[in-house]
Amino acid sequence: MRVYCPFCKKEVEYKIEKRDIKEFRGIEINTYENVAICKECHQDLYVNEIEEKNNERIYELYREKANIIKPQDIIDLRGKYDISQRELTAILGFGKMTINRYERGGVPTKSQSDYIKLLIDNNDKFIEKVKEAYKNNNINEKIYEKIVSKELNNNITKKEVQDNIRKYLKFVLNRKPDIYNGYKTLDIEKIENIISYIASKVKNLTITSLNKYLWYIDMLSFNQRSIAITGLTYQNQKFGPTIVDKKYDEISLLDEKYTREDIETENGNTTKIISNGNYNLDKISDTERKIIDTIIKILKNKSVTDISELSHKEEGWRKTKRFERISFEYAMKLNIVK
Ligand SMILES: [Zn+2]
Repeated sequence: MRVYCPFCKKEVEYKIEKRDIKEFRGIEINTYENVAICKECHQDLYVNEIEEKNNERIYELYREKANIIKPQDIIDLRGKYDISQRELTAILGFGKMTINRYERGGVPTKSQSDYIKLLIDNNDKFIEKVKEAYKNNNINEKIYEKIVSKELNNNITKKEVQDNIRKYLKFVLNRKPDIYNGYKTLDIEKIENIISYIASKVKNLTITSLNKYLWYIDMLSFNQRSIAITGLTYQNQKFGPTIVDKKYDEISLLDEKYTREDIETENGNTTKIISNGNYNLDKISDTERKIIDTIIKILKNKSVTDISELSHKEEGWRKTKRFERISFEYAMKLNIVK
């Protein structure tokens, strides 16, 4: 292991010494660095490969401890709006080549990293920055319009997809009021708000139990007022009453008011429904709210299996065949509120 020593002014042998590094850029990292030392004059020597290895280790720890963004995060942000490194640098107002350096593994300062992270997480903030950069002539009109229209497109596409699911659901689930929808016209918006509301009150709401919640709510409503709340039609399924033709699948994909989360468990996959907390109960009357709360109170602390078993005791389920629609006539004999 020989290297040039600028102090001895000749090629020398060197040894490696480990030194503790407690912090880097003000963040505690507790690691070490290898330092090459001249065996003759005992001065520190610079050896490229050793320094690179040190930096790699220190940067990685620092990134992790200080929660610094990764090169890929920046590449993804550029990909989303289809912009170059130079354009992104101009939008952020950083020095020339900054983004290029970060994408090649250079470590941003904590404040620059936090700033980029904010813009990655918040589209509106990013667009705001783009407008500012355009106003200050840091980017040209073409780039500006490309980014803004891309953002617009992203939003429209998402809204369109959601509206198409709603249209589809109305098409397949809506019928004239009869004994199978509890003499109620289908109201998708109301259903979305009720689901969000239930999910906000019930921990670990799965799609299987959600079907029972909705069925019980409609049945209790019909029992008390001779009209259901949601306008949904239900059928006999193995684990109890469910929305007909598995349309709960599409309903769970509407994600303005709640989000679905598929999780793997020991007994297979389950789908959880998580409230976004933005439900609106304006279209739900006090009486309806009371009915919904009653069912939540009864089922809330029961397991999926218990809820399923409870529904198996109901005449509405017992007296219908598998896949047959469940008539609201059975609401008069509801077990759960007896
Ligand atoms: Zn030396």
